[in-house]
Amino acid sequence: MPLGEKDCLASYKVLVVGETSVGKTALINNLVGREFRESMVPTIGVDFVKKIFEVDGALIQLVIWDTAGQERFRSITKYQYRGVQGIVLVYDVTNFESFSHLTYWISSIQYEVAHSHCGRGRYEPIPIILCGNKCDMVEKRQVKSCKGYKLAEKEMAFEFFETSAKTGTNVFQSFQRLAFHVTDIHNPKLMKSYHPYMIRCYDDTETTEELRSQVKLRRSAPKKDKIAPKERGKCVKLKRSLCCGCFR
Ligand code: GDP
Repeated sequence: MPLGEKDCLASYKVLVVGETSVGKTALINNLVGREFRESMVPTIGVDFVKKIFEVDGALIQLVIWDTAGQERFRSITKYQYRGVQGIVLVYDVTNFESFSHLTYWISSIQYEVAHSHCGRGRYEPIPIILCGNKCDMVEKRQVKSCKGYKLAEKEMAFEFFETSAKTGTNVFQSFQRLAFHVTDIHNPKLMKSYHPYMIRCYDDTETTEELRSQVKLRRSAPKKDKIAPKERGKCVKLKRSLCCGCFR
């Protein structure tokens, strides 16, 4: 039987946002193994997909909402932001305008998330993974990698990747890292070692009983390699340099 919701220790809602036609739907399709489509017809987002990741020996589920179709009317509302725990913010490296509109997106995320938390007494940071998509279109590039990286640092996005929904470059990694950060913020007790590589992503089809027991085994392994809080700073830096290196 494939892994399902009941195998997961936590489930998190994440949104994929950005300008029209930057490739939000294409990224989600690539993540869940759907075929890439060249068609230029703007997509209307199909609600959400679910994807299971193993973060540090714990199975967690991301419920990934596609906002494609609504962004044209700036109609991603408080309702959609409600309960959101992570964001993948996408621009198109072949379209400078989609990059220059990122500040709008970041402030609207901050505004909506802050308001949707109002009155709940607790405010957690919302991890944003910034993705410069369509990096396969080398000749049409309008936004240099370093610009994306600098913006990610300035606006405190947790990580930055250049992705291609066409070739699959860094698509898994982007969502994996989001799964890692969301778990770190909302369920730190699930984190055992904070090792940046202790993270996997599963296809619904490839999961078996054997895999399930392997996960259990990893989860019950002694915590001897847990990284001390002091060392975690180094780990974060390592993550930064890792993601920085991804697009080179
Ligand atoms: P959305 O409106 O942000 O959801 O964008 P779509 O996913 O509908 O993609 C818009 C167009 O860009 C489509 O024609 C896709 O085929 C194309 N596209 C999306 N991602 C990529 C990519 O990584 N590389 C290339 N070459 N084209 C892409």
